[in-house]
Amino acid sequence: MATELLYHRDSSLNEAEVLVLATGMDELGPFFIPDRTIFYFGGGGQPADSGFVRDPEGNMVPILKAIPAPGGIAHYLASPHFAPGPGVALRMSIDPARRLLHSRIHTAGHLVGSMIFEQLRWKLVPLKGYHYPDSPYVEFSNPEQLHELDSIPVEEGMREWIRSDRAVFTSTDGSLDGDREKTFVPEGFSLEGGRSLRWVGIDGFKYYPCAGTHVPTLGLLGKVSIKYFKGKKGNMRVAYQVEE
Ligand SMILES: [Zn+2]
Repeated sequence: MATELLYHRDSSLNEAEVLVLATGMDELGPFFIPDRTIFYFGGGGQPADSGFVRDPEGNMVPILKAIPAPGGIAHYLASPHFAPGPGVALRMSIDPARRLLHSRIHTAGHLVGSMIFEQLRWKLVPLKGYHYPDSPYVEFSNPEQLHELDSIPVEEGMREWIRSDRAVFTSTDGSLDGDREKTFVPEGFSLEGGRSLRWVGIDGFKYYPCAGTHVPTLGLLGKVSIKYFKGKKGNMRVAYQVEE
């Protein structure tokens, strides 16, 4: 993949200069592939960013969507009149409030998962997360079919970790690949060639394979509460809320 994902290293970048590597056209319209991007294209239970680039006259041209393509990440623009050619430098911006909210909700999902699985050690095993603002949840496998769960210990535990402002770490150097002590790979998660490209973990908890954006420390989460526990096809969904 020729497009560097700048948000993998720094989820707080809201602006960057990018260089157009290639352009193309498909059924979604004209697109360009930049050398790097700050635009989270979605997936992994997290919604895509909204953002724009500036054309040479300084006009804001919204990015409609971005999709992984063979030569990098294809970015589609909302203007048929602006088609940047290879070699053109563009100023890319994303909506910082939207990004921060998504990062907070996503990071809170990690905290819910680790609190239940690693700290409280309930027999619930993290499977996947849905981190959209409408009704975020973490889904666990529930091998012992637990029910009538209590949200209070989860909320109290999370409050403590948020108060101590734990760091959220990212590792991409391969040192954690295959490390069963420090990492946890949810069932059904596909690791390319047996390894992950990126691990994300809260200080004191395990690292999980993840491609999304996160806040650097838990203090930025504010108040996180548990909305409900709900059995779902033998699994357990834990719905949570991040106060805006
Ligand atoms: Zn994540």
